Amino acid sequence: MSRDHRTRDNWALLHAISQARTKGVPVAVVFNLVDKFLDAKARHFGFMLRGLQVVEQNLKAVGIPFFIFRGKAEDTVPSFIERCNASLLVMDYSSLRIGRQWRKAVCQKVDSVVEVMEVDAHNVVPIWCASDKLEYGARTIRTKIQRQLSEFLTEYPILESSGKAWDSEPPPCIQWDSLIADVLREGAEVPEVSWCEPGEDAALEALMGKATGFVNIRIKNYENRNDPSKPTGLSGLSPYLHYGHISAQRCALEARKVRKMHPKAVDTFLEELIVRGGLAENFCHYQPNYDNLNGAWSWARESLMIHATDKREVLYTYEELENAKTHDTLWNAAQLEMVYYGKMHGYMRMYWAKKILEWTTGPEEALATAIYLNDKYELDGRDPNGYVGCMWSICGIHDQGWKERPVFGKIRYMNLAGCKRKFNVDGYIMNVNQMVAKTKKRLRDGTASSSTAKPVLTTNRR
Ligand SMILES: Cc1cc2nc3c(=O)[nH]c(=O)nc-3n(C[C@H](O)[C@H](O)[C@H](O)COP(=O)(O)OP(=O)(O)OC[C@H]3O[C@@H](n4cnc5c(N)ncnc54)[C@H](O)[C@@H]3O)c2cc1C
Repeated sequence: MSRDHRTRDNWALLHAISQARTKGVPVAVVFNLVDKFLDAKARHFGFMLRGLQVVEQNLKAVGIPFFIFRGKAEDTVPSFIERCNASLLVMDYSSLRIGRQWRKAVCQKVDSVVEVMEVDAHNVVPIWCASDKLEYGARTIRTKIQRQLSEFLTEYPILESSGKAWDSEPPPCIQWDSLIADVLREGAEVPEVSWCEPGEDAALEALMGKATGFVNIRIKNYENRNDPSKPTGLSGLSPYLHYGHISAQRCALEARKVRKMHPKAVDTFLEELIVRGGLAENFCHYQPNYDNLNGAWSWARESLMIHATDKREVLYTYEELENAKTHDTLWNAAQLEMVYYGKMHGYMRMYWAKKILEWTTGPEEALATAIYLNDKYELDGRDPNGYVGCMWSICGIHDQGWKERPVFGKIRYMNLAGCKRKFNVDGYIMNVNQMVAKTKKRLRDGTASSSTAKPVLTTNRR
């Protein structure tokens, strides 16, 4: 278990259990914890470990042991396979470079001793079925995904035990408190958030809860999803989807059940979740340069390079951006929302990234800065959706060329006047300021879920 941290609705786990039942052998779940992962801090490691703690408890209920190892997966996993004489290794899937390197390194070591299977537990239509090539945009992947939904968007089987009790190396007694304290101390620079309870049980509640669940209560607001002054318009599910605390398939299945009541909202949500999400995965899977300028289409790269030396009206340093010290109060609010809340509104993410292109020395610096800040502060960061979001905003990926203009070239432009026409900009800024004040107080009082650190804005870049 590497990317999808849940026991429910997990095709990788279901497949491992079904294979074990056929072979008459037990199953164990293994997670390998690394010390560093793509700028992840206390906010991210804390959320992840608390989610894994729930996984351990829920696995216990079906008699499956959970092991957590620290170090390199290419060492810890093969060694475990040898110690327990495993006959099959089932891995979940990641489209990101580092996740693929880990899996490849493990495979190279165990290929000759054990059968290995990779199961896409993350996407509704498995990545390699959705398309066998890099897609140009939503319009080219949409029908490919939609025509396979009758096959893949189906109810999950119930999780059951593997049938045979684990009789090999006993699972460790995981010292969760000290493990979590360690990662919170290490990554204290970006503390945990308090509004999003980690784990698969909380994720299910956020989706289906009777009081505030997205599909039962809030989906009707989804038509406001592009209005940052009404934040409850969004599902808020991205942190859970990112860590695999919930599956996109479960979200889609439950949303479909209320389609008769809210057809437009449900269709839009499914488009974002399945088509846009699938497109982002497709990009990272088939484009090795998914996070740099070489991954842009040639029309966009050429246009950006022609305008790379255009005079910028204003230039900001990395520190000024990170500290939200620009002349644009809307942009500053978005930056602060990300730093203190850990989740910038989806609409603001586009504006935020495009302004970084406008205010830095060139597209390479803009893209690197946007990705770095996104990964450092967004709870849902380090995700294919994030790399593609930054590439869409700055490099025109999955977009079309627009009327040429300074700095942006043919990349779509956004400005403050457009935002003012679209939503209540002052209302959004006021909401963010209130949230920042509350968060600062909570951090001062030490009432953060466990980390007591304040966000420390550093200049320590990759
Ligand atoms: C510059 C930039 C950076 C971004 N960074 C991230 C990131 O780090 N992590 C992340 O998950 N998303 C990122 N996005 C995409 C999108 O903004 C977020 O997925 C969304 O705001 C998450 O909030 P939500 O779940 O409440 O959204 P909802 O609108 O409720 O969406 C539900 C789900 O649909 C999917 N989705 C929605 N919008 C998109 C999209 N544009 N592309 C792909 N999938 C989408 C996501 O899985 C999302 O959780 C970024 C977009 C931009 C422009």
